[in-house]
Amino acid sequence: MRIVSDPKQMQSLARRWRAAGDTIALVPTMGALHRGHESLLTTARQRATRVVASIYVNPTQFAPHEDLAKYPRDLKADAKICRRANIDVLFHPANLYTADHSTWVEESSLSQDLCGRTRPGHFRGVTTVVLILLNIVQPDLAFFGQKDAQQVAVITRMVRDLYVMTKIISLPTVRDEDGLAFSSRNRFLTVAQRTNAQVLPQLLHLAVAQKNPVLWFQRELKRRPGLQLDYVKKFNGHLCAAVWVGTTRLIDNVPCPA
Ligand code: AMP
Repeated sequence: MRIVSDPKQMQSLARRWRAAGDTIALVPTMGALHRGHESLLTTARQRATRVVASIYVNPTQFAPHEDLAKYPRDLKADAKICRRANIDVLFHPANLYTADHSTWVEESSLSQDLCGRTRPGHFRGVTTVVLILLNIVQPDLAFFGQKDAQQVAVITRMVRDLYVMTKIISLPTVRDEDGLAFSSRNRFLTVAQRTNAQVLPQLLHLAVAQKNPVLWFQRELKRRPGLQLDYVKKFNGHLCAAVWVGTTRLIDNVPCPA
């Protein structure tokens, strides 16, 4: 496995692969890799002859008050996981934006509600960085997790609208034994908070069996200690929720019939 940090070098490597007839897969991440990321890497490995994992904590998708500075970073552990998944390149740029960067990609429909409402500008940062990564790596396939249901919907829309020649593949959410979806932010939780957080997937699963899943979830969450509701909404055939556990914001979703 090679670690490449220069975007131009990554781009010319990808161009050579493409000329040689390779199928290229990209798995974009912000690092602090866990079993959710690993499932994307493993599937990408099975579906392409060249696999690139990108690790880049994208500053433009964080608002000034958000957790950019304290977002977990552990390149050594991440490289070990990438090696185990037998990928070809770990793309780890120091920065993807020039000092006078002034071009943005904005999806203006699916990105407006849910996380887009709580985190204004978040999806503009996401779509911009994902298009940058797609232009650098030129992948045939790019893998995303259904855990970020709105993100994958927004990216799929962007790729469709802008005629990007990459197929977006969404993979199921990977959960820990207690049902909590793996997330890089789980490491911020104390033991007590972790116990409280387990309720999130449980309530989502119970809610979708109710007559009014949104109302039911709102009511139930109020009774739970240590959890504060950001939102719960139906979106794209899923019941999606964001919940604060102390100062950590977790998101999750489960399939939900319309
Ligand atoms: P992140 O590093 O959090 O930006 O996530 C990188 C990719 O991994 C995104 O496509 C996420 O949706 C995906 N991902 C994160 N957590 C999980 C999980 N628990 N199961 C499956 N995919 C995940």
